[in-house]
Amino acid sequence: MTRQQRNPATIHAGTDHQILEALLGNVNDAIVMVDLKQRIRFCNRAVEQLYQAHAEELIGQPLSSLYTVYWRTATDQAAAQQALDEIGVWHGVQRHHTKDGRNLTLEVVFQRLPRNNRYGADYLLFLRDIPERQIERQNFLTEASKLLADSLEYEVGLSELVRLLVPRCADWCVINMLNDQQTIEPVAWAHVDSGKAPLIEELCQRYPLDPQATTGSPHVIRNGLAEWYPLITQEMLAHMAKTEHERTLWSEIGCSSLMIVPLLRHGRAIGALTLAIADTNRRYTREDLALAEDLAHRAAIAIENARLYKAEREARAEAEHAAARSAFLVEAGVLLSRSLDYEQTLQQLADLTVPGLADLCVIFLVAPDGTIHRTAAAHSDPQKELQLLELQKQGAIDPHGPHPAAIVIREGQPAHNPDVTLALAHTALPEEQRAQIVEQLVPRDQLIIPLIARKHVIGAVALGIDQSNRAYTAADIAAAKVLADRAAMAIDHARLYRDVQEAVRVRDSFLLIASHELKTPLTAMLGQAQLLQRRLAATELATRDQRAIRVIVEQTHRLNKLVGSLLDVSRLSQGQLAITCTPFDLNPLVQRTVHDFQLSTEQHTVVCELPEQPLVINGDELRLEQVFQNLLQNAIKYSPHESQVLVRVERLNNQAVVMVSDQGIGIPEGAIANLFQRFYRVNSAASQPMSGIGIGLYVVREIITLHGGSVFVESTEGQGSTFTIALPLFQAPTAITTAAAV
Ligand code: ADP
Repeated sequence: MTRQQRNPATIHAGTDHQILEALLGNVNDAIVMVDLKQRIRFCNRAVEQLYQAHAEELIGQPLSSLYTVYWRTATDQAAAQQALDEIGVWHGVQRHHTKDGRNLTLEVVFQRLPRNNRYGADYLLFLRDIPERQIERQNFLTEASKLLADSLEYEVGLSELVRLLVPRCADWCVINMLNDQQTIEPVAWAHVDSGKAPLIEELCQRYPLDPQATTGSPHVIRNGLAEWYPLITQEMLAHMAKTEHERTLWSEIGCSSLMIVPLLRHGRAIGALTLAIADTNRRYTREDLALAEDLAHRAAIAIENARLYKAEREARAEAEHAAARSAFLVEAGVLLSRSLDYEQTLQQLADLTVPGLADLCVIFLVAPDGTIHRTAAAHSDPQKELQLLELQKQGAIDPHGPHPAAIVIREGQPAHNPDVTLALAHTALPEEQRAQIVEQLVPRDQLIIPLIARKHVIGAVALGIDQSNRAYTAADIAAAKVLADRAAMAIDHARLYRDVQEAVRVRDSFLLIASHELKTPLTAMLGQAQLLQRRLAATELATRDQRAIRVIVEQTHRLNKLVGSLLDVSRLSQGQLAITCTPFDLNPLVQRTVHDFQLSTEQHTVVCELPEQPLVINGDELRLEQVFQNLLQNAIKYSPHESQVLVRVERLNNQAVVMVSDQGIGIPEGAIANLFQRFYRVNSAASQPMSGIGIGLYVVREIITLHGGSVFVESTEGQGSTFTIALPLFQAPTAITTAAAV
């Protein structure tokens, strides 16, 4: 029988098919060609052997007459179909159930052929039987890959991997990794005899690998090439161990065959996998080495993925932490600017810092005598917070002593020390309390930042991480410094404010006492001087002497008014100035005051415009007279040249309005907001020569406010000013009005 006759797989007789037959007939892999309907057009001899069928009978039969495929899932089948449709080829592993009842695991390549080819076939199939051992190996690798991929912590994945490797591939194994410091450290190990695993650990720890070693893991990691020792002899072991103890460890662990494969990523070794057979006669083969390399390759990918994931997770955590830190600083800034009571604010700040930036926070302040005091404390654990508060009561800290806060305050430099609280507790407590406090308050990581205001160290803030796993990063330290700067500034402002308040209080009380003490003798002097003036008026007195007496009376009068005003200011600031109100018509009061002023000045014309109707208000006539006097006095005083002063009274809704306008120097715009403050005087070239102490307008505003009225000013510098006073008109009670009408 000719080959052509024996193998009717040829579709058509002819040279092409003979070539095809010649090419594929004797290939070891099974090769099938099918048309679009999956009818067999050609198959080689390997197909006959694999499926136990005759090729002649197969031609024209559907592919399913050879086998049925077990797809693991419908998705796998769809993916294969998609690959075939889109790229014209699918390569994978299939499980075939043959017509004679066998199950085969095959490596399959399904390839589309060019259309309308001369063989009348549309697809070509290569089918290669995978032996049982190879399937096992494949399954093992799949299992190992899954194990590695399932664990996001690569250290955990590697620990699981070594457990999978022992005893399947080794009696014991170790994975060494290159760490960030470029030193090699063991991360996972296992021994078939679990009692011997600690011996591997001891070997690794007591005899660390020499990074420059010319064999073993360091060498494999440096060169990226595997080492394979099918047979390790006792002599070789003795040579490897440097001490007697190391030799003992090696012989207890056992090592008769060994291979070390690199964990390679992008051509660089990131670690090495060591696999060893302890004492049996088994030897590692080249095939074992290939499997180990395959495993190491998968492990390296998994490690890299886990590292990337970890880096991404850490970056995300850091970003979230940074956002929280910024929010915390904003909140702390708001808190610090809210109040001038800094002791209270510092406690709130400590509370806010925990847990924002720390698990524990203590704020130390330097007292005027130089001693250091714990001013505020907070802890995330309420029990420990109580202990911190207990510490707070222990009294002052010696600024020259060894207390860590004292050192930071002395040196003005931040300290980052995880053991600082240990020292802190020791130096801060009596002997008998130390052990307990040390044990309970010691944080893992602590920062102490000095509080510096205007170049002076005024205290320190201590922050500690106790409970979480975090450690202070450079960004945390920067945030803590910002916090310390803001706190120091707030404390400094509050202290300055307190000092100013105290100075004002001292000044006010001095003013009250001084004006009070001056008032009595002055009143007596004025009375006597006026009496003398009246008595002498009837006598023939030289003009010179008359003038002298007049000057004495006038100046004593002025002095008396000035002291009276100071007394008013003191009383007003202490809330002691009372007004006695009765209803009266404002017009005559204004007219009288204007008249008196007109008499006292020749340089100015004081014009008074009054409404025809009376404007009755409920007020203190004497105090209001003082108000109009102050305004008129200023109008004249601050109008150095000949000019007119206009006083205009009118009714506006339910108010009596009095306007005092002058054509004087005016007031700079920037000064208007402060004009009614105590002791405020405009600091301008034009107003400098004018005498005064800056209390007239203050008294005006206070008296008007006591009357329920208001005062404001409009002015243009160089053109004059208008002061306007509005007072509520008197509303007679309805019952009385009715009675009067009757
Ligand atoms: P004193 O006149 O004693 O300085 P006041 O409290 O009466 O104190 O006035 C405060 C300041 O307001 C004055 O120093 C002056 O600079 C400014 N001032 C008050 N009234 C006038 C005015 N009519 N024209 C210009 N400046 C005025």
